[in-house]
Amino acid sequence: MAICEIISVGTEILLGDIVNTDAQFLSVELAKMGISVLHQTTVGDNPERLRKVLGIASERSDIIIASGGLGPTPDDLTKEICCEFFNKECVLHQDSLNSMESYFKGKGLVMSENNKKQALLPADGVVFPNDNGTAPGCAIEKDGKHILMLPGPPRELKPMFLNYAVPYLSRFSDKVIVSHNIRTFGIGESVMAQKVDDLLNSANPSVAPYAKEGEALLRVTAMADNKQEADKIAQPVIDEITSRLGEFIYGIDEPNIETAVVKKLKEKGLTLATAESCTGGLIGKRITDVSGSSSVYGCGIISYSNETKINVLGVDENDLKIHGAVSEPVAGQMALGALKVSGADIAVSVTGIAGPESDGTDKPVGLSFISLAAKDGTVVVKKLLTGKNGPGCRDYNRLVNASNALNLVRLYLDNNLQ
Ligand code: ATP
Ligand code: MG
Repeated sequence: MAICEIISVGTEILLGDIVNTDAQFLSVELAKMGISVLHQTTVGDNPERLRKVLGIASERSDIIIASGGLGPTPDDLTKEICCEFFNKECVLHQDSLNSMESYFKGKGLVMSENNKKQALLPADGVVFPNDNGTAPGCAIEKDGKHILMLPGPPRELKPMFLNYAVPYLSRFSDKVIVSHNIRTFGIGESVMAQKVDDLLNSANPSVAPYAKEGEALLRVTAMADNKQEADKIAQPVIDEITSRLGEFIYGIDEPNIETAVVKKLKEKGLTLATAESCTGGLIGKRITDVSGSSSVYGCGIISYSNETKINVLGVDENDLKIHGAVSEPVAGQMALGALKVSGADIAVSVTGIAGPESDGTDKPVGLSFISLAAKDGTVVVKKLLTGKNGPGCRDYNRLVNASNALNLVRLYLDNNLQ
């Protein structure tokens, strides 16, 4: 049986300024996995003493889990010392740098230079993304010994451990871990979390909320002796969440909304066409990313100019003059035009201002109109204001517009369009 040691790094723990709840949490979770924690060590933010502690731990343990000291400041040195101890070189991990940059952007902050050191990660290690902060965690291995490094703040450590470290450690566990992702669209992470608040504290299955690029998901993770048992533990919680979140859920264990849309179109034997302005073909790209989409998607029109909106889609020139390209009537006519031109059963359209520059009117950046028209006579137009402007907003607005258009199709196919 694998032997594990927890090393809590932080002078504030030694001084009694904070209670070492991370070690308690890790011990409880590791015990559930059948991994024996035989030692807990606490060491201050001191390179020499941390090296010594690692030396002792690596003699007597197979797995070392270090918490704390992954931050950007000079006293955060856990990763540097652990990598040095295992002779691992750190290199820039682009994905981590990207997610750190978008984390700061999302909060309207500029990332400082010293944060970049957090994106330096062991070249041949496993990276644990930080969904609730900036410092990614990681795991390295040498001669059958493993060191896992996790951030100190409990709200970062706990989800990282459950979602990334547990799967990594499953090789040492005789337990089976089963995770299911319940994916939603159209509900914010905090509202979603509120609706399932009482379930978020459960231990087995654990339920953790995540938000990414306009979407929110709940991950339900169960642990048991075998898969059947784990499924049995997870299912009632999945059913409860499904009944509480209802039509916001677009799929369970679907990789993304486009896959859900293609699947639903196939199930119903319906076809889709797109008319895109500000998204420039992104909806079409995302649909055709799904293998087998050709049976449900045959036509996408990028009507970026007014001429194309008029000549190809039959948008009324007067409406364009009076209301502008980014308007409710134009969106509706784009969808109807695409429906007619393509002969598809459903058409979806988007016209909006992706920014960061405005369209020369007083309409705000981030405004868009998304429309769905269908052969059964359905025509709806939805107004969307993403609230994003300034640097970096263009990619975000286009992505969120495309997602909302796909969601509109999904709601129509689920008979949930209002
Ligand atoms: P940061 O990026 O916030 O600096 P870090 O990974 O470098 O994170 P530390 O600097 O060691 O972590 O600790 C940051 C904070 O996290 C501490 O002030 C404390 O509030 C909390 N924390 C750290 N270690 C523990 C622990 N073992 N138990 C509970 N809380 C902890
Ligand atoms: Mg720190």
